[in-house]
Amino acid sequence: MSSDSQPLDLYDLALLLNYETTVEEPRFRHRKLIDVGRLHVERFPFNFDPNYEFPVWRNVAGQSRRGYLYGYPPSNAPVEVDSPSNLLPTPVPPTLSHLSPRELETIFYETRNIGRCDRAVALLWLLFSKYPDDQLTRIRTSTGGMYTTTARRRYGQHWKLKSPKQLNLTVRVDYRHQAFVDHYTVGFLRMDEPSINVVLDLTSMQFGETGRGRVSDGMFVLEHIEDYKKRLHQWAREPEHVTNQSNFSMPNNAEKPPEEWMEAVVKRVKERWDNRAVEPWCGHCGAPSTKRQKLRKCTRCEVYYCNQEHQRINWNFHRHFCKGNLQRLIAAETKYWVGRQPFPFNPAFEMRLI
Ligand SMILES: [Zn+2]
Ligand SMILES: [Zn+2]
Repeated sequence: MSSDSQPLDLYDLALLLNYETTVEEPRFRHRKLIDVGRLHVERFPFNFDPNYEFPVWRNVAGQSRRGYLYGYPPSNAPVEVDSPSNLLPTPVPPTLSHLSPRELETIFYETRNIGRCDRAVALLWLLFSKYPDDQLTRIRTSTGGMYTTTARRRYGQHWKLKSPKQLNLTVRVDYRHQAFVDHYTVGFLRMDEPSINVVLDLTSMQFGETGRGRVSDGMFVLEHIEDYKKRLHQWAREPEHVTNQSNFSMPNNAEKPPEEWMEAVVKRVKERWDNRAVEPWCGHCGAPSTKRQKLRKCTRCEVYYCNQEHQRINWNFHRHFCKGNLQRLIAAETKYWVGRQPFPFNPAFEMRLI
């Protein structure tokens, strides 16, 4: 257990977790995307075994569905890290040649996040277990809010997204239920409030464009719980907040990844965070600097980006913290706490669902 006197930054930790789990996603490792279907038909709309019926792929009024087909991984696995730029096979199938880099990026994160929200929350829990409970953690929201809280002030949140308006499916994913989709997020509390303020949804990209940050257009959601509920309404007719758990554990029916894999992901994230002064990452996707893609620094602050596209996408979030804004927010918060005491946090406190 190591204590870090500098606050952890939840946005940056989420970026690193998102990047490391996505590029190492075992279900899709080295697989290439070979088809995309968006048809309202009974069968998976691919050139696939026509006698095999997917149990969830039935017509439901008003529900759109999207399917992705991935090929088998090559037997001689390449050393290259999986990324949106090498998602397609060579030669590119004519049906996929129209996809823009932005669409490929959405598909890359969307497919790798499907059905993985419980695991993402468990990974964040594992990461926080490496720090003491009173470890200070800075939370920056997509609308420019900033506060510092303790790592302990969090709840794993369970939602049921009833009557989903859209189902995304890959050949490797099998939802047992059509009536709802279980979804897991993490809610954080300010030090001066007993109720959940900000929701972190690490796998919001499984909802495609709907799941991108509301304002930031980012890879995941970090926004006020009321805004987050509005977002869930875009995706399901009846999203229901089921529980808050102060000690999150993956549900029994979850496809649990090997513990070694979880530990390895968390170890890499922690090492990258500890090395932040010398090895920066992209402020949009969390990628490190490589020989092929050298990160470039924002001209007004210390944040780096893969390219102009990632800088542009991230600007709605970044503008709140660029040009000394973060330092101003930190100074204002320090002033706020002069003469005040944090609200005592009781993990056993029965959280009222709002
Ligand atoms: Zn990037
Ligand atoms: Zn900047």
